[in-house]
Amino acid sequence: MSAEIWTLERIETEEPALAALARLHRVLADEAVLFATDGTGPAPKAAFAGPPAVQWLSGRPLLLAAHPAVVRDLCAPLTARLARRLAAEFPDVAEASLAVAEAVEHPGFPWPERIAAFREAPSEDDVPHAPLFHFLLLRALAAPATHLARSFTPPTPDRWKRAMCPFCGVHPAAAIASPGSDRCLLCVLCGCRWTMEGLACPTCGEKRTERLRALASPDVGPASLEACDSCGFALKVFSESALPSGPPLAMEILTCRLDLVAERDEGVRRDPVALAALFPPE
Ligand SMILES: [Zn+2]
Ligand SMILES: [Zn+2]
Repeated sequence: MSAEIWTLERIETEEPALAALARLHRVLADEAVLFATDGTGPAPKAAFAGPPAVQWLSGRPLLLAAHPAVVRDLCAPLTARLARRLAAEFPDVAEASLAVAEAVEHPGFPWPERIAAFREAPSEDDVPHAPLFHFLLLRALAAPATHLARSFTPPTPDRWKRAMCPFCGVHPAAAIASPGSDRCLLCVLCGCRWTMEGLACPTCGEKRTERLRALASPDVGPASLEACDSCGFALKVFSESALPSGPPLAMEILTCRLDLVAERDEGVRRDPVALAALFPPE
C-alpha cells in the first residue's frame, strides 16, 4: 500500500478532529459487509434487463434500470440494519436512528417511491429524521451501486455524455487529476471512474476560463475544488496516487474542511446528493 493512501482506520488514528466521522463510516461499512456475508441479507446485486451499453445509449444509469424489487429487497433491510448499528454505537443519535429503523421496517413504508426518488431530499412528512434517513438510504444504496461499478467496464465518452454517474445516477462531485484534455470523473457513491470529453463544465458546458475557478489550500488537505461560476457546479479533485480503487470515502473525509472553507469563503457547494451520502446530518 502506498504511504500516501489514507484509509478510514488511518484517519481514526492520525486525525483526531476527523476520527468520529471516519469511525462512523467504518462502522457502517462493516455492517454492510456483515449484512452481505452473515446469511441474513441478499447479495448486493442489482439485476437489470438488457446489456449495459443499451441502457447507457438510452441515457439510463444502471441502478435506475435495475429491477425495483431487487433493489428494495436489498436496501430496505440494509437501511434498517445500518440505522440499528448506528444506534448501538453512537448514543447521541440512538433515538433518531431507532426511529428511522422502526419507520423503514413498518410494512407500509413506501419503499418503491423512496428508492425511485433517492436523489431527492425527503421531507419530514415522508419519514422521521429525514436527513438521517437520506444519509442511511444512500449508504445502503452504495452496496448495489458499488457492486455494479465493480462488475462492468464504464462506458466510453461516445456512449455516455450525461453529467451523472453511469452506474448510480448521482451527479459527479469528484474527479481525478489527469493529464490531457479530458476529465476523469469519480463517483463518490459507487466509485465509478468515467471519462467526459473536454474540460468544459460538465453540467452547463461553460468553457470560458474566467468563469471556471480552482480553489485549493494546503491547510484543507490533499485535494482542490473546481467550480463553475455560470451554473454553480463544483468538483473536488484528487490526485490519482492518493486514491484506492472504489469510492473515495476516506479521501473525502480527510479533505472535508475544503468543502467547509469553499462554502464559507466562496459560496461554492458541491452536489447535495453527493454531500448527503458522505456527511451525516449534524
Ligand atoms: Zn455512481
Ligand atoms: Zn457550469
